[in-house]
Amino acid sequence: MKKIVLVGTGMVGMSFAYAALNQNLCDELVLCDINEKRARGEAQDLNHGLAFSKTSMKIYAGTYADCGDADIVVICAGVGQKPGETRLQLLQRNLEIFKTIVNPVVESGFDGIFLVATNPVDIMTRITRKLSGFSNSKVIGTGTTLDTARMRYLLGDYFDIDPRNIHGYVIGEHGDSEFVPWSQVTIGPKPIRDELMDNPKFRMEDLDKIEENVRHAAYEIIEAKGATYYGIGMAICRVARAILQDENSILTISARLCGAYGIEKVYVGNPCVVNREGAVRRIELTMMNKELRQFKESCDLLDKTFNDLEFGQ
Ligand code: NAD
Repeated sequence: MKKIVLVGTGMVGMSFAYAALNQNLCDELVLCDINEKRARGEAQDLNHGLAFSKTSMKIYAGTYADCGDADIVVICAGVGQKPGETRLQLLQRNLEIFKTIVNPVVESGFDGIFLVATNPVDIMTRITRKLSGFSNSKVIGTGTTLDTARMRYLLGDYFDIDPRNIHGYVIGEHGDSEFVPWSQVTIGPKPIRDELMDNPKFRMEDLDKIEENVRHAAYEIIEAKGATYYGIGMAICRVARAILQDENSILTISARLCGAYGIEKVYVGNPCVVNREGAVRRIELTMMNKELRQFKESCDLLDKTFNDLEFGQ
């Protein structure tokens, strides 16, 4: 019996739930939200679609007490920025919200994996780790999984290669300081730099544009339709599947570095092995000095933001 509790039944949460239903991700899906009426309505709506799906998933609106025997608690709850509010003020409000979520989840006896999508996801994941007191491996965030998928799709298009045969990762903060360590990207087995040398129609300037597009994709989507949710919903599904199926897949989730790159406590998008126990191993990259510096700058930024937060009681 595979059970997921989803906290936050807004656009992101419900895009995940809809993807989970269509992908037959689990046996039981519980929807929780401060707006209980909304969670009930969403459960009803999904249940009415069950007859057309291949699954007999049990879907219902619940409470934190339902987390006790869950495998994963997915957190997509959060508030948006108020006019004139700084990012840190928004973060402080999301911290207060997470206190009202993580503490009751832990009190329920939950012993599974926390999977966080709320932004800024690297900081919210670190907050979840601190509030829960769970081990490092059992608290993860979506990190740069979606950014990595976007990058592979765009590179696949550029080189006219199946994106599944483009191997590479977007790492760092899920945000403005994320980047592609190009020295680590290969087309099938061939390093991308060799392909550029052998084939003059491919140019580094174009790859830089692709990296910029990936970094700005969310802004562009928000400008066009107000928010992003389908892509991240499917990314959450992908990470949850790696956990539930004990896959040992490498995904650029947000996970504590635990000494990798000489950094201990920071949560950041980096390639990790994900299985039933969560983020069990970091795949530490041998990057060029410039890339390493970029990664450390991104980590420093995240560390400073986290340390500026007031945890209170
Ligand atoms: P939304 O406003 O549609 O939904 C948020 C939900 O959280 C609402 O249903 C609200 O009632 C609920 N909520 C608020 N306070 C709560 C509390 N104390 N307890 C329980 N539920 C509570 O927002 P959305 O578009 O679904 O976005 C959710 C989060 O996901 C945001 O932080 C957004 O920035 C983030 N996001 C992350 C990524 C990513 O790549 N990680 C991508 C897109 C969006």
